Amino acid sequence: MCGIFGIEGHVDAANFTYLGLYALQHRGQESSGIVSWDGERMQVERGMGAIADVFGEETLERLAGERALGHTRYSTAGASAIHNAQPIVVNTSMGPVAIVHNGNLVNAANERRRLEHSGSIFQTSSDTEVVLHLMACNPRQDLVDSLMLALQRVRGAYSLIVVTPDELIAARDPHGFRPLTLGDLDGKPCFASESCAFDLLGARAVRDLEPGEVVVARNANLESHRLAVHRQPASCLFELVYFARPDSSLFGDSVSEARLAMGARLAREAPADADCVVPVPDSGLFSALGYSRESGLPLEFGLIRNHYVGRTFIEPKQSIRDFGVKVKLNPVRPLIEGRRVVLVDDSIVRGTTSPKIVRMVRAAGAREVHLRISCPPTVSPCYYGIDMPTRDELIAANNSVDEICELVGADSLAYLSLDGLYDSVSNERGGYCAACWTGDYPEVPADHDRRQVELFPRQEA
Ligand code: AMP
Repeated sequence: MCGIFGIEGHVDAANFTYLGLYALQHRGQESSGIVSWDGERMQVERGMGAIADVFGEETLERLAGERALGHTRYSTAGASAIHNAQPIVVNTSMGPVAIVHNGNLVNAANERRRLEHSGSIFQTSSDTEVVLHLMACNPRQDLVDSLMLALQRVRGAYSLIVVTPDELIAARDPHGFRPLTLGDLDGKPCFASESCAFDLLGARAVRDLEPGEVVVARNANLESHRLAVHRQPASCLFELVYFARPDSSLFGDSVSEARLAMGARLAREAPADADCVVPVPDSGLFSALGYSRESGLPLEFGLIRNHYVGRTFIEPKQSIRDFGVKVKLNPVRPLIEGRRVVLVDDSIVRGTTSPKIVRMVRAAGAREVHLRISCPPTVSPCYYGIDMPTRDELIAANNSVDEICELVGADSLAYLSLDGLYDSVSNERGGYCAACWTGDYPEVPADHDRRQVELFPRQEA
């Protein structure tokens, strides 16, 4: 996952990009970068870590110009290293181009091999660079045409923003896997992965880009183009379950309302004879509230999250993740002791986190722990930009719900049904990608067996 932001025609372009990225920090914190076009050249600042680690007043001052874009990265293709930090900036025969990308291209390895055979030299191991090479190999008078040609060759998930000397371009793949929203800041167009970025800036959320739409912003003017490729829309439902911020609206839904509906439905599908509902913060907060409202059981903040630790999953190394679980959550004994607890979380992936939390809640004196999960069992890896392990590592791919219940040490375990999940969101079920729960992939990757992070051989930084 990644967060992307871009703005056109604003004197404080880089500052607003910095603020926009701040609001999108939950989408990745491995690396951050901003590029601006200062009228003569691309100015770029990138570094490993979160926005606050990379940017200060001085760095922002260097990013002059009225057109900027930025990226906050969580690697799903290519190693977590500075050479893969975005934006990627290149010089082509059409002029300089900078790009940021959220998603995962499923034919990037094949395209890269083909391009390398005809002489391309890649600087990164990121799938995003393939788009730039495809553009450079097919120059056109109008750079927008060259980008659209390149996008017709790549397959998979991309929401991306491009800066050129003349324009800012935003594009969403024909399935619309990842979100991308158009905003308006004092009459200036801006684009963000999620609408919460606009709230921070005081910008107005205008609309989501359509799947397959390419929007070109030149000064205050907007042009909308369509890629010639048409596909079944497949917006990622896991964004609504877990990834997006609850104060955003995505794919036509308020994230918080969708999660409340998931929790309420879960309470109807899987009631528990219990005394209270405890959310696993922050991911389980809204579904737990929905569960509590529907069941009439009181909501208790029985687990406290240390907010100075990043999301447990965000770092790609297993050792860091294991440490993260312990350092992140602590029970509030007076709220839990002697009570039968319904513990609500958004998902179980590997199943390494839940047993620790269940143990923690029992150690704080809970008499019973009933675990409720606000999505169906995760049985298939994601190839479209969510960091997920291989099928072998997914606990639900290899164990029944009863077996998982035993493995996590809960008194009972229930997942939200797929029907329940679809009923909690607005669009028709055909409009979403639910492959992580069904194994039904809208776009089959070129090499199905590979993990996303190993799409390309790892390189040292
Ligand atoms: P685990 O079952 O130990 O793999 O961890 C599952 C927990 O990690 C869930 O409760 C989510 O809150 C969170 N999570 C699930 N999927 C992801 C993901 N792709 N990236 C980051 N965090 C995730």
